[in-house]
Amino acid sequence: MISIFVRLLVIVTCIGLLSDATFAQPPAPLDGRDGRDLALDQFRPKSMLQLELHETRRAKFPVVDVHFHGRIKLAPTPEALDDYVRIMDEQNIAASVSLDGHWGEEIDEHLSFLNGRHPGRFVTFANIDWQGAGRTEEPATWDCNQPDFAQRVVERLRDAERRGASGVKIFKQFGLGYRNADGPLIKIDDPRFDPIWQACGELGLPILIHVADPAAFFEPIDQRNERWEELNRHPEWSFYGPQWPRREELLRAFIAIVERHPQTVFIGAHVAGNAEDLRTVGAWLEKFPNLYVEIAARIAELGRQPYTSRKFFLDHADRILFGTDGPRSRERLYPHWRMLETWDEYFPYADELFPPQGLWNIDGLGLPDDVLRKVYHENACRIIPGVKALVDARLKMVEK
Ligand SMILES: [Zn+2]
Repeated sequence: MISIFVRLLVIVTCIGLLSDATFAQPPAPLDGRDGRDLALDQFRPKSMLQLELHETRRAKFPVVDVHFHGRIKLAPTPEALDDYVRIMDEQNIAASVSLDGHWGEEIDEHLSFLNGRHPGRFVTFANIDWQGAGRTEEPATWDCNQPDFAQRVVERLRDAERRGASGVKIFKQFGLGYRNADGPLIKIDDPRFDPIWQACGELGLPILIHVADPAAFFEPIDQRNERWEELNRHPEWSFYGPQWPRREELLRAFIAIVERHPQTVFIGAHVAGNAEDLRTVGAWLEKFPNLYVEIAARIAELGRQPYTSRKFFLDHADRILFGTDGPRSRERLYPHWRMLETWDEYFPYADELFPPQGLWNIDGLGLPDDVLRKVYHENACRIIPGVKALVDARLKMVEK
């Protein structure tokens, strides 16, 4: 009986004791014939399926990565930028949207860092400074809790638009971090901030907003949690407990602002924070024409429900954008093309010792060319200012 060779033992008392250092080396092979236990984090079964495989080293059509961190995740050196652009060229990423522009002069600096060496490849989104000169531990001193905050932000965003910002990125701390003067977390649909969402619509700046996190992060870290080994490595990613809002509450508040501001384009990051429930996301897309979603860091979710995902892409092809939450390595990018373009079955979504987002494999969606073109670049060209010119120039260059 092969099944008794490997027995999984999840030692709950180990939570918190295992650090990333524990995972640096491949685990020594364990011989289960002696009835030895194998920790869950060391179980890396190799699939014995003999399947038709496709090399996907390059996207079939030019891609716009609408979720790229040109400041937070990319080293601020010309070499790091050159390396990333080399990967873009290899894999057919025509343009990337850096979500880390900040505001004021920092936008100019960021754009000249990105486009100075590689003109025509990047646009940037602005960010809102909620804290200002306030003291970190004292929410009452934060700028977002002072009078007229929203009006001042609107002025800064107007300025950001003049400096060339193509949108606004809102981080998940809005809803899961920033606090009211008296302590509780600020709610996403707090009407104090309505003028900001309103102004973005008037300025033509789409809002890319990260709301909530994977469903499993809001559940107890116990034997039923499908992301147990990941939360075990990163207990700080858990939002389970009375100190956190329910995930449904965050999503509901997000949809409330989408509904209140029909002239403003909202791009729900990470499949609007709800990739585990595409039926609900689909219903939102149907109800709110100003809502779009992008797929960054969610191929593990989309590829493990291929029939549902494929239907989601076909039904909402005009409303889904491509993103990675990168810069990503070559190896992390390949499965994106493979999932979207091929019918390959049961392949890893990340070529790493520990799959970063759940211990499972994914399947290809085999999307048709017209859907791929929309998701890869056409939708981004339509709704993100400045992107179309970059993609058109790129397409012309390729034709030559
Ligand atoms: Zn991100």
